[in-house]
Formats: sequence, C-alpha cells, structure tokens
Amino acid sequence: MERTLAIVKPDAVERRLAGQIIQRIEDAGFEIRAMRRIHLSKRQAEGFYAVHRGRPFFPSLTDFMASGPTVVLVLEAPDAISKWRTLMGATDPAKAEAGTLRKEFAQSIERNATHGSDAPETAAVEIGYFFAGIDLI
Ligand code: GDP
Repeated sequence: MERTLAIVKPDAVERRLAGQIIQRIEDAGFEIRAMRRIHLSKRQAEGFYAVHRGRPFFPSLTDFMASGPTVVLVLEAPDAISKWRTLMGATDPAKAEAGTLRKEFAQSIERNATHGSDAPETAAVEIGYFFAGIDLI
C-alpha cells in the first residue's frame, strides 16, 4: 500500500466540483485516509510550493492557491502516487488525456483543478504539511 497527497484546488472548489472529484477518487478504488477543507494563506501556499520558488509562475501560483478554500486528502492504494497522477492527467489540460480529471475540469495550466504528489519522498513531506501522524492511524 502507498499513500499520496491530493488537493482539490480553489478553482474546482469554487465551481462546486469537489464532490464529483471525490466520487471519481472513490470510484477509482482509493481509500480516503484523511480529508480536510483549508483556505491557505499566501505564506502557507508559498511553503507548500517552496520547490517552485524562483520559477516565473510562483507568485501567480501561490496567489491562486491562497485565493479560496481547498480540500486536501490523503489517498491510499497500491501505487497510489502514480495511480492518482494518471487519474489527474497532465499538468497542462491541453495535453491531458481524455477521461482525466484535468482534461475534464481544469481551466488552464495553473487553474488545473487538482494536485498530486510526484514521488514517495514528496508525498511524505506533503502529507506531513497538512496532517499529523495521529490523523493517519
Ligand atoms: P504538477 O505536479 O502536475 O502539479 O505540476 P508542477 O509541479 O510542475 O507545477 C505545480 C503547479 O504549478 C501546477 O499544478 C500548476 O498549477 C502550476 N504550473 C505549472 N506550470 C505552470 C506554468 O507554466 N504556468 C503557470 N501559470 N502555472 C504553472
């Protein structure tokens, strides 16, 4: 079993797509191990995306992530990290496969509906950013 961090981003929450996205998560066979709604501050968004600090889109990305509430989840499944990234689709919805969440729900490369961890090390850090160990027993 593997765990990954998923976020329903502010663009999707604002358009009341969280329920549909969570249904798709369950239909795909993930177990939701933890879930919370959080409206990130700008500083919290900058901390989450610290790896992208210095990229040209960092100010805009962190403004967007702090623009409204998100729903943050810990998903569990065999190969959860790659399985969730496959369900999300490519970062840029113009390049995302048909049937993926980003193809269906993203509005742009930035307002792309969902986030998923990209490796076991980042999943561990990202899960710890939002959830305490006691939330995940
Ligand atoms: P992910 O792992 O698929 O989310 O993609 P990245 O880690 O490369 O980028 C993190 C997030 O930054 C993406 O999900 C987008 O919201 C945003 N992003 C990535 N590339 C761009 C870009 O070229 N322009 C803008 N405006 N946002 C971007």
